[in-house]
Amino acid sequence: MRYVMKFGGSSVKDAGYGAICDLVSDYKGNEIVVVVSALKGATDGLLRAAKKAESGDRGWVQNFLIDFKKAHDSVVGNCIAGVPAWLEEGLSRAGSELEQAFQAIMHLREASPRSVDYILSFGERYSSLIACAALVSRGIKSKSFTGGEAGIITNDRFGGATPIMEFTREKARSILCPLLEEGFVPVVGGFAGKTKDGIVTTLGRGGSDYTATILADAVDADEVIIWSDVDGIMTADPKIEPGAITVPEITYEEATDMVVLGAKSMHPRALEPLIEKRIPLRLKNTFNPRHDGTLVTDKLSRPFPSVVKVISMVNGVGMLTIKGSSMVGEPGTAARFFNMLAEAKINIMMISQSISETNISVVIKREFLEKAQEILGKEVALGGGKVEIEPDVSVIAAVGEGMKGTPGVAARMFRAVANVGVNIRMISQGSSELNVSFVTKEADAVKAVRALHEEFINRARK
Ligand code: ASP
Ligand code: MG
Repeated sequence: MRYVMKFGGSSVKDAGYGAICDLVSDYKGNEIVVVVSALKGATDGLLRAAKKAESGDRGWVQNFLIDFKKAHDSVVGNCIAGVPAWLEEGLSRAGSELEQAFQAIMHLREASPRSVDYILSFGERYSSLIACAALVSRGIKSKSFTGGEAGIITNDRFGGATPIMEFTREKARSILCPLLEEGFVPVVGGFAGKTKDGIVTTLGRGGSDYTATILADAVDADEVIIWSDVDGIMTADPKIEPGAITVPEITYEEATDMVVLGAKSMHPRALEPLIEKRIPLRLKNTFNPRHDGTLVTDKLSRPFPSVVKVISMVNGVGMLTIKGSSMVGEPGTAARFFNMLAEAKINIMMISQSISETNISVVIKREFLEKAQEILGKEVALGGGKVEIEPDVSVIAAVGEGMKGTPGVAARMFRAVANVGVNIRMISQGSSELNVSFVTKEADAVKAVRALHEEFINRARK
């Protein structure tokens, strides 16, 4: 079998990359491309440091660079006995290039998206070098690459670049396949790529998942495994619902609906490269590898006992409602409002409008609520309407293909929530019927998740 295995920052705990080495050894006899993300917190740290550098805070940046080096040195110390010279050289070259980049930002007092992408790419660059050395120290033949070196060619939308698959496929295949055939385990740093001109880009936060699936397409992998620290996708967050269980299989469509919701934080585009070639994806736990985890596939091998598979809760959001009778029968109203939000770079997460057309509600990130109210307020007031905001809300979403065409699911859902005294503020269901989302007061959200879990999942298992 040919695998692409992606290890997230959470796979790297005290034993450093030891767990990765053990797993790669467990899969001996297969061809494996390893994709690693940065150490936990590394990308956030780099981003923060880029902002500090832009504001000219030299002391802060210096300390950051010292800590950043220390964190990586300590991982090296934990998992590699007898550090090879090539690793020392590679890390020290990366270290001085990173420092030079920060110097340049501090000098210019400007961190453009292009500079930020360059800075952010270092987390994965360090971790790919270390993971590769860890494998080599265990006698596994390996070679390390940055995303760009491995052949990931993207457009120049810095901060969220898209791979140009026709180039990437050919390049990555020609670089990685011969190594696989010779028994090497290539280690590729996730998240970053480069433009045709060689400028470093990133695929957006969480982009290492995407790197793994892009490479899986390129090398025609049989399966992608994303290793993290949970047993796959759960029916609910186990911290909220102790009865939550792993969902053994879900379809690409269901998974797409879930990643968009952030139930399992995966890059929103990560599934795209897999769908056409129907490459299955497995989500597994680095620290509990015997557990099958969740298989994301095109066809389920057995039905799930409940029509609803996953109940998730999205926090940190707020609801904004535009009210006014001047909107009735007026084409282009919604477009105008949404455009104003788009211009302010405010992303709309959920939309609902009643057939009376007298109000439109949207859910956006909580931090943008007041700004959005201000932007839309003046315009809406002209037509005699008003804009109201509610910051203390959460979105609950139920996902499952079994809901499609099954009457009564929404009724059961809302009855279960009503029975525990929770009021629903806004509802939305796409016509795909894979997903029903609704808004409650934040203080009621956990109660609502539990009520739904009891109604759909627990009951189906009894
Ligand atoms: N290190 C990057 C991030 O934190 C990419 C990833 O982890 O997938 O967003
Ligand atoms: Mg991630």
